[in-house]
Amino acid sequence: LTAFAKTDRNRITRLAKRGHYDRATINHILDEALVCHVGFVEQHQPYVLPINFARLGATIVMHGSKTSRLLTHIAAGHPVCVEVTLVDGLVLARSVFHHSINYRSVVLFGTGHLVEADSDKLAALSAMMEQLIPGRWQAARQPTQQELNATSVVAIPIDHASAKIRRGPPGDDPADAAWPLWAGVLPLQVQALAPVPDTRMPVDVGVPEYLTNYARNKKD
Ligand SMILES: Cc1cc2nc3c(=O)[nH]c(=O)nc-3n(C[C@H](O)[C@H](O)[C@H](O)COP(=O)(O)OP(=O)(O)OC[C@H]3O[C@@H](n4cnc5c(N)ncnc54)[C@H](O)[C@@H]3O)c2cc1C
Repeated sequence: LTAFAKTDRNRITRLAKRGHYDRATINHILDEALVCHVGFVEQHQPYVLPINFARLGATIVMHGSKTSRLLTHIAAGHPVCVEVTLVDGLVLARSVFHHSINYRSVVLFGTGHLVEADSDKLAALSAMMEQLIPGRWQAARQPTQQELNATSVVAIPIDHASAKIRRGPPGDDPADAAWPLWAGVLPLQVQALAPVPDTRMPVDVGVPEYLTNYARNKKD
């Protein structure tokens, strides 16, 4: 299926025209994100925690310590809600009311489970590293069995998802057009600065190309 069904859970009601349900749009946003936030409820108390993740097909994977409460909760098969947000710009209107942010966000719902087989855990861990720095997994020392055993990996098949996207100029009222104030968009993006070498590194190790060319923006 190329799009998620609209259900009572994921249907965007507020500014519905900004809603998208096709997998290509949703995947694109998920793949550009560095971090997601997982919302879950334990004993009537909601929590929202940030965590690294990767998308593997129609599944989200995450890893962490065996003692992580979040991962234990997901592994136990409770429903969770995951969101990512990419901020693309500040929207400066003439009126205070119409100031806004240009963004691309995704909210998804699913029920997780523990990933148990070593081969599946390695596939998830490699996807997570590739999500952050493509090319790094191959180059780095692979996990020992002990390191792998100490790591919990969970998978959340995506049941429902939506994207919400705001683009473009401020939506000022026509009557405010002549207000004498700069209006428009201040574009923002995640940008890598010069890499800072670890002092314990042998001097003859060069900066890999995947760092010199590092860019997050996968905007179309
Ligand atoms: C960077 C950023 C800044 C924002 N600032 C504001 C703000 O200042 N004020 C404000 O009111 N809103 C803001 N929003 C939009 C906000 O996320 C909600 O969409 C909005 O508040 C409507 O909430 P609701 O509960 O009525 O959503 P509804 O439309 O009723 O939500 C129904 C379902 O739609 C989906 N959905 C809702 N919002 C999103 C989303 N953002 N992305 C993907 N799926 C979504 C979810 O599945 C949700 O369960 C911002 C969004 C972003 C990404």
